[in-house]
Amino acid sequence: MEYYSPTELNEAYALLSKYGDAAIPVAGNTFFMGHREELFDEVEAVVNIKKLGLSYIKIEDDTLKIGATTTLNELFNHEITSSGDYKIFAETVNELNINEVRNMATIGGEVCIAGEVDMPTTLLAYDANIIIGGSNGTRSVSMQDFHLGYLNTALETGEMVVEVQLPKPIENARGGFSKFERTAADLPIVNVAVRLALENDGTCKEARVSVGAATLAGVPKRSIAAEEILVNQKIDEALIEKAAVASNDVECINDFRASSELRALWVKCGVEDALKKAIAQG
Ligand SMILES: Cc1cc2nc3c(=O)[nH]c(=O)nc-3n(C[C@H](O)[C@H](O)[C@H](O)COP(=O)(O)OP(=O)(O)OC[C@H]3O[C@@H](n4cnc5c(N)ncnc54)[C@H](O)[C@@H]3O)c2cc1C
Repeated sequence: MEYYSPTELNEAYALLSKYGDAAIPVAGNTFFMGHREELFDEVEAVVNIKKLGLSYIKIEDDTLKIGATTTLNELFNHEITSSGDYKIFAETVNELNINEVRNMATIGGEVCIAGEVDMPTTLLAYDANIIIGGSNGTRSVSMQDFHLGYLNTALETGEMVVEVQLPKPIENARGGFSKFERTAADLPIVNVAVRLALENDGTCKEARVSVGAATLAGVPKRSIAAEEILVNQKIDEALIEKAAVASNDVECINDFRASSELRALWVKCGVEDALKKAIAQG
């Protein structure tokens, strides 16, 4: 197996194209080393993408731009993603209790796994776009379309994620994140992210309710029924309860970590908790 550590994007793209499916880009490397070490036996080239200058958090043209190799702890500590419109990032990272993983794992790695991780659930609630680069240039795919299924993304051979972008949330936006796991060292069994935009009188203009780790689809899904209950209404405890009950439109998976019934119950509790956190921000 060959190991490469390119310092130019074009060099990285050339390597990924040359080796095709036999190459893997690695960023924090916590997924393979933590969960899937055996996959290294199947590859011919490992391309370390940490030296490509993709670790940054900035706002340009009203768009939040996060470089693919930005770590979870960089998101947790940066002033843009730990306060104001985007503090949901710090709140999401705060629910991952292993500091070593937070120091290494990157936002690009989180979105490329398409499995039981936290950040894509939040990115779906915030209408994020994933910027993909390759030898033929860059393209943008919505978070919703980027995940095709469990461990399956819209990346084509020779491509990699270079950036995550978020449009500026509408005024008076607030968010909440909730998570259930067995132990601090476990992956999430259920996570929920919500984003609300409220009028001055408290009426909900826009709502996103996103559920991850628990879905039958294997990737985060929006609860459209819960969102519809919230929009154009003033949000109080009774409405939150109604929205939480409606979130059973998200089909849950039944596997060795939890039954679909238990997950559905935790989704309901998670939606309630995340909505209460969002409302409490006001
Ligand atoms: C014990 C443990 C517990 C954990 N608990 C949680 C948790 O509760 N919540 C949570 O959110 N995360 C958790 N994680 C982290 C999570 O499981 C992944 O390991 C992490 O998100 C991967 O990020 P990475 O940068 O290390 O990616 P890597 O391990 O480097 O890569 C992961 C995958 O993405 C691909 N990839 C990476 N970056 C790119 C890119 N820019 N473009 C294209 N492909 C790319 C790689 O080829 C690989 O297939 C945990 C990890 C461990 C080890």
